[in-house]
Amino acid sequence: MGVAAQARALYICFILLVDDLTSPSLPDLLPELTSIWQETLNWQPTSEQETQFQRLYKLIIEGNRQLNLTRITDPKDFWEKHLWDSLRGIKLLLRREGGEGGDKGVREENISLSSPSSPSPPSSPSPPSPPSSPTSLTIIDIGTGAGFPGIPSAIALPNSTLYLLDSTRKKIVFVEQILAELNLLNVKTITGRAEEIGQQRSHRKRYDVALIRAVSNVTVCAEYALPLLKQGGLAVVYRGTWTDEENTALENAIQELGGKIESIDQFKTPLSHSDRTCLYLRKVAPTPPMYPRAIGIPTQKPL
Ligand code: SAH
Repeated sequence: MGVAAQARALYICFILLVDDLTSPSLPDLLPELTSIWQETLNWQPTSEQETQFQRLYKLIIEGNRQLNLTRITDPKDFWEKHLWDSLRGIKLLLRREGGEGGDKGVREENISLSSPSSPSPPSSPSPPSPPSSPTSLTIIDIGTGAGFPGIPSAIALPNSTLYLLDSTRKKIVFVEQILAELNLLNVKTITGRAEEIGQQRSHRKRYDVALIRAVSNVTVCAEYALPLLKQGGLAVVYRGTWTDEENTALENAIQELGGKIESIDQFKTPLSHSDRTCLYLRKVAPTPPMYPRAIGIPTQKPL
């Protein structure tokens, strides 16, 4: 190696060292918080799932250096706002697949593909019944972004198939890298808009469950999700606080889409005690063919 090349190599080492010393160092381990999983979800990750969560965290933090994926990077925040939050919405499904402490094989009340025979009023504290009896469900995460709630759900529900949809190709490319690194074989990705795929035969009426978090206002979320569901399927809409205005808007729109509000679950997150709401919308009738409307219309003219 010539002197110039040696100098250049030394310089690169120096730059890498300085970069390493100056970049904010984050603790690279998530808290385990086993007792909180158990108390809040009546479920615990297996050690393999725990390892996958840790690796997911590391990959998201690394990806964040290039792509602006999430502002939630502190380990405890990540645990609460990405992992726990994702799985809280599908609490009723976790208990069916088992996991450590999950009661595999035990059927919860009202578990069936169809709606319960005596419909519970909205805001009822009783859990909505998840669709279909087999543990293998076909689930779509609409507007998955960096993979939430879809990737934690795929880790926690190994017998189900998760479809992760996002309109931004860059995000789907990133998510695909994560899936390969985690060797998650029960996940497929779709680049596209909910308005488009909701009109495609290969996606419309194909899913048992649709998850949708932080994508748009509630009636837009319902318009995206309900066409994709099989009759009897369930949409889980993740929200923060829940207002009377949102409730009225949803009540006015839901029937038009072939759905009904099965349950509104309001709770606090376990670490920061922030407000969260999960809406469970049941598809009880076919969604009229005009929904979802053309790209951009649902957000421009929400129902
Ligand atoms: N669900 C993730 C990401 C929320 S950001 C989370 O909770 O962290 C919203 C994401 O929805 C973005 O990645 C955006 O590209 C996607 N999105 C917005 N409108 C969409 C549409 N009509 N169809 C598909 N994806 C959409």
